[in-house]
Amino acid sequence: MKKTPFLSLEKAQEIVKEIPTPFHIYDEKGIRENCRNLYKAFSWNKGFKEYFAVKATPNPYIMKILKEEGCGVDCSTITELVLSKACGFSGTDIMFSSNVTPEEDMQKAYDLGAYINIDDVNFVPFLKRVCGVPKTVCCRYNPGGVFQLSASEDGVQVMDNPGEAKYGMTEEQMEKAFVELKEAGAEHFGIHAFLASNTVSNDYYGELSGILFELAVRLKNKTGVHISFINLSGGIGVDYREDEPKTDIMFIGDSVRKKFEEILVPNGMGDISIFAELGRYMLAPYGGIVATCMHQKHIYKEYLGLDACAANLMRPAMYGSYHHITVLGKENEERTETYDVTGGLCENNDKFAIDRKLPKVENGDLLFIHDTGAHGFSMGYNYNGKLRSAEVLLKEDGSFSLIRRAETMKDYFATFDFQDDFKIDC
Ligand SMILES: *Cc1c(COP(=O)(O)O)cnc(C)c1O
Repeated sequence: MKKTPFLSLEKAQEIVKEIPTPFHIYDEKGIRENCRNLYKAFSWNKGFKEYFAVKATPNPYIMKILKEEGCGVDCSTITELVLSKACGFSGTDIMFSSNVTPEEDMQKAYDLGAYINIDDVNFVPFLKRVCGVPKTVCCRYNPGGVFQLSASEDGVQVMDNPGEAKYGMTEEQMEKAFVELKEAGAEHFGIHAFLASNTVSNDYYGELSGILFELAVRLKNKTGVHISFINLSGGIGVDYREDEPKTDIMFIGDSVRKKFEEILVPNGMGDISIFAELGRYMLAPYGGIVATCMHQKHIYKEYLGLDACAANLMRPAMYGSYHHITVLGKENEERTETYDVTGGLCENNDKFAIDRKLPKVENGDLLFIHDTGAHGFSMGYNYNGKLRSAEVLLKEDGSFSLIRRAETMKDYFATFDFQDDFKIDC
């Protein structure tokens, strides 16, 4: 589908007068509508809850919007737990899905009363030693092998490799963990798995839920425990490319309902709550980067040089990911030129796009990089002394507000504050 930015050139120019480029901007209206549709798609399940994966967009203003829409949060570190608490999340509004967990992180999750999702059977004695076993506890499953969905009606194939993934435990270990946790006082159990990332196929969640529901029945029959929730985790993808299909959340919700009624209900497990831990699906399309084209050069190829760089959006450099780009105000102009769109890091992979067709760009033009609302700002870094950008919220009424200021050199040098004799003029 044709991609149009959620803000116009005029709006961008108005913002740039107050907040210089580059910055990440988020669309409150889009975030709320998408959230409501997700809840509608799973409204057949009484206990349904989305635990937003904080790592995708760890901004308190965004997290509060999601909280107002009924979401909880999924954390994996003490820092994310502390941030979530500051945003008003508490108790079972928080899912703690960590791995290689430090003691103090586990203790914090326990103290907050979060749902603890353990990554390994060896975490049972670890829990007992560090904080104790909570009344409700979740275990993360890894089926091993290769997870594959054949090309469906929408022509999209899904393949990922759980057998090579460090997360979760085998079915035998799940069973052992359930028994040991029960002996240690746990009364209610959850099951969690994350098998494939950024799936644009509508069949992923249905397939995954079938696997987990059958596992739940086997585990209940073998161990006699009460399973209270099944966490389908993240992985629902978004259409980064214009020619990719958009995921159909109503279809996805319904495919999970069918498996629920087919597998869980006949086994007397119809009271199970379905949880999700979506990050990308909740935010990616509702965030973008606004950057200015500062320089152009013509050597063996044509290059655009932006004031944003891979330190603001790592995905293209790290995964070769595609992010659509629109030249604001030139939405309807023909894409006659072919550019590499670059940032200023001394790294040749600092390219937002390679051989991208765009309309003719002038220095000073504002470019909009699409779908950066999840795993965008949050993966930012400071290589080459590049500073993290501001984050801006475009509100429902069309006004905007700063929701994180840009870093300054002072922030960059702040970790040298243990030395009195080190002074930098900035
Ligand atoms: C990253 C992550 C998510 C979110 O994944 P998305 O691809 O953004 O939906 C959910 N759960 C866990 C445990 C994760 O690590």
